[in-house]
Amino acid sequence: MYYQKKVKDVCSQLNSSEQNGLTQEEAKKRLEQDGPNTLVEKKSKTKLQMFLSQLQDTMIYILFAAAAISIMLDEVTDAIIILIVVLLNAIIGMVQESKAEAALEALKNLSSPSAMVKRGGKIVEIPASELVKGDIVVLEAGRIIPADLRLTQTVNLKIEESALTGESVPVDKSAEYVAEGDTGIGDQINMAFSSTSVSYGRGEGIVVYTGMDTEIGKIATMISEATEELTPLQKRLNDLGKVLGIVAIVIVAAMFGIAVLQGRDMVEMLITAISLAVAAIPEGLTAVVTIVLALGVTRMVRVNTIVRKLPAVETLGAVSIVCSDKTGTLTQNKMTVLKVYFDGISKDVKELSYDDNKVFNNGFILCNDASTANNSRIGDPTELALLDMGSLMNVTREGLEGQMPRINELSFDSARKLMTTVHKDNNNNVMSYTKGAMDILLKRCSRILINGETIKITENHINEITTAAGEMAKQALRVLALGIKENDDSASEEDLTFVGLVGMIDPPRPEAKNSVLEFKNAGIKTIMITGDHKDTALAIAKELGIADSESQCITGNELNEMSQEELNKIVNNLRVFARVSPEHKVMIVKAFKSHGSIVSMTGDGVNDAPSLKAADIGVAMGITGTDVAKGAADMVLTDDNFSTIEKAVAEGRGIYQNIKKTVLFLLSSNFGEVISMFTAIAAGLASPLQSIHILWINLITDSLPGLALGVDPKDSDIMDAKPRDPKESLFANGGLIFTVYNGFMIAALTLGAFIWSPVQHLTAAGQSVTLEGIKLMLQDPDILMHAQTYAFTTLGVSQLFHAIGMRNYNKSLFKMNHLENKSMLLAFAVGLLLQIAVTEIPFLTVVFETVRLSLKEWFNLILIAMIPLLSHEIVVGFKKIIRNK
Ligand code: ATP
Repeated sequence: MYYQKKVKDVCSQLNSSEQNGLTQEEAKKRLEQDGPNTLVEKKSKTKLQMFLSQLQDTMIYILFAAAAISIMLDEVTDAIIILIVVLLNAIIGMVQESKAEAALEALKNLSSPSAMVKRGGKIVEIPASELVKGDIVVLEAGRIIPADLRLTQTVNLKIEESALTGESVPVDKSAEYVAEGDTGIGDQINMAFSSTSVSYGRGEGIVVYTGMDTEIGKIATMISEATEELTPLQKRLNDLGKVLGIVAIVIVAAMFGIAVLQGRDMVEMLITAISLAVAAIPEGLTAVVTIVLALGVTRMVRVNTIVRKLPAVETLGAVSIVCSDKTGTLTQNKMTVLKVYFDGISKDVKELSYDDNKVFNNGFILCNDASTANNSRIGDPTELALLDMGSLMNVTREGLEGQMPRINELSFDSARKLMTTVHKDNNNNVMSYTKGAMDILLKRCSRILINGETIKITENHINEITTAAGEMAKQALRVLALGIKENDDSASEEDLTFVGLVGMIDPPRPEAKNSVLEFKNAGIKTIMITGDHKDTALAIAKELGIADSESQCITGNELNEMSQEELNKIVNNLRVFARVSPEHKVMIVKAFKSHGSIVSMTGDGVNDAPSLKAADIGVAMGITGTDVAKGAADMVLTDDNFSTIEKAVAEGRGIYQNIKKTVLFLLSSNFGEVISMFTAIAAGLASPLQSIHILWINLITDSLPGLALGVDPKDSDIMDAKPRDPKESLFANGGLIFTVYNGFMIAALTLGAFIWSPVQHLTAAGQSVTLEGIKLMLQDPDILMHAQTYAFTTLGVSQLFHAIGMRNYNKSLFKMNHLENKSMLLAFAVGLLLQIAVTEIPFLTVVFETVRLSLKEWFNLILIAMIPLLSHEIVVGFKKIIRNK
């Protein structure tokens, strides 16, 4: 067992080197031999399985029953048609499902974890799946352990193993430990297990098991696929679908009942009723939402956003509060030291020389984990800025460490806001350097170093230092202080001697200002949350237009004094939260949520996970974010940029709009079909549509434009409206009236077209136009076929026109850009051509029982079918008048 062996023995057993790791060639060979470091997932569905699953639907069973009845009654053509429709439906369903699945799969790969390993002596970042036994993995806070490791080096390393042991308190790890006998995994403190995460400190380990051989791989139940939950909208649509389904069935049953009482042909009516039921029951609603969401998610990758959880897309559109970290998200995270302060004097960094104050220079350069060796820049920008300050004086960390190696340390964490390293020189002199937030460090200083002399710190000194720091902060500089402790190797952060300050600039991202403004127009508040000092934060917040007065700022200390209820009361006036710890973020999220706001919160560190989970939308940083933060987030920004959140919200709004448009379109179309059939039958007329017509319309002229609406580019004014109420139904704001109105209009057009031909015959024969007369006329099979062709064509084509208006039901057709949705143009063209084909191609006219139409008839029917566009203009005009009142 590896935990019973010394590091040296494990390395030689696995033919690897602790210093250099494996070579690339060796790693490649091992990868081929052992396979990728992945857990075997549930196999995804094959195309055939997807196809078969389309057939497992109540509606399809009903259709099969209808086909069986038709065969029994020798109506073989009807049966064949029904089966073809079922087949086409299943194929379309399968294609859509596999498209959605492929989009989601691609996303999964995008957000899959990576690992830092030593290969051929260099530290490189590789996909975790490419790890092999013998690789040396570098660990730091926030990393998820990518395989089972025997730790080779540990510096204050703590690992949270709850994924494996259920124990949520992080475990202290030690590379030196060697177990005597068999030990449970909870006590193997020289091992790090796959899927657990580093919560503190750093270390290295050699990969001993990968993939299914890891401890987590052995626990089969843990790998069982997380069930894919429906999004809130999908759930609501499912419920709506059920209600509408019942309504449709009642109407269809009533229609069938009336037809039986009227003594119509039972079989024909049964099949028509079934077809209508199939067309009217909106069984595809949830599927449409899934497709639109999945396609939307793919589109969001283009704006640098990886959506990890599907419901996030929906919620994004309703966001009303955007809480953002300052450093790196609102700012560029390109730090440069501009000012220094020591011995009571502030000066420009350019005026600084190494001999001015060696302790000051050594401290900021040595108490540092960044590296600029070999022309690379690795590490935290704050620390890189300090190394850059060193290089102005030709001093490097590596050079200094050669003389004063590090013997102890306490890593930086954003709750403590301090970092300490202890160094020993050749003469065994021990010096401990602590750097960190000025206000926090100053409280721990009892002495001060002035002009080479250490004296007791006085009120005066403290005032001077605070004023100097305040000056820097007001110029938006981040201030870091340095303290020392001599002859103490315990890395204690108490009783320090104050040395000096540095002030570094981190310019705001130029595009962030515009995004803050856009959010303001969209009724969304931007909130800055930062570990930085209040003055620095406010200076940047002012520059970005987030806040304009100090009364809008609050600090972590003030939050500590407050209860959740107290914060809830004042939170709506606050814009900047300074000097906060990650723990405060949950409180902030809760406070905004208590007012019903939909809150998005950004985060990158290990401790940010709870607030990312508490927010409605947790946003993790793709570049600086830790694995833990990414794992807890709903969404990852691949460029860490605040403006990306704005683009994502706009996309989210657009996607919600598209779902709404598609659903309202499909429902109004279905409603129109049901009403026209029901009215005709109830009035004692022949059926205006044959069963195949209904199924065809459902399949072609409904679903093609429906899908095109789903991928509609977002309106240019989408960010001008207030955020949507997340509880708002799809039918809110007149959506229901709109659907019913359009349903009736389509029904009226269809019925009008249906009776047109008999009416013409009546007038030609000089008879008066009565219901009885029309009824009689329709008993003539030729006239009936003609009338049905009219009704069928009008219904089909009017849906196509209706869809064009549906793209924006608040805008005149003349103000829309019809070329921007190519799918809609294609859907329209294909829909129209197919509709022409089924009445004009001789073989198809037989199947569809249609008659060929003259050019004039086509012209007239298209004019009628265009009425939805006229209606669109009238409705838009009315809305405008009401709005302006
Ligand atoms: P954000 O604005 O995203 O919250 P931040 O960098 O301001 O990020 P933290 O990283 O938590 O927030 O830093 C909080 C404070 O700790 C900083 O204002 C600074 O004073 C101090 N600090 C930051 N980095 C270091 C470091 N590497 N060593 C010592 N102190 C640091």
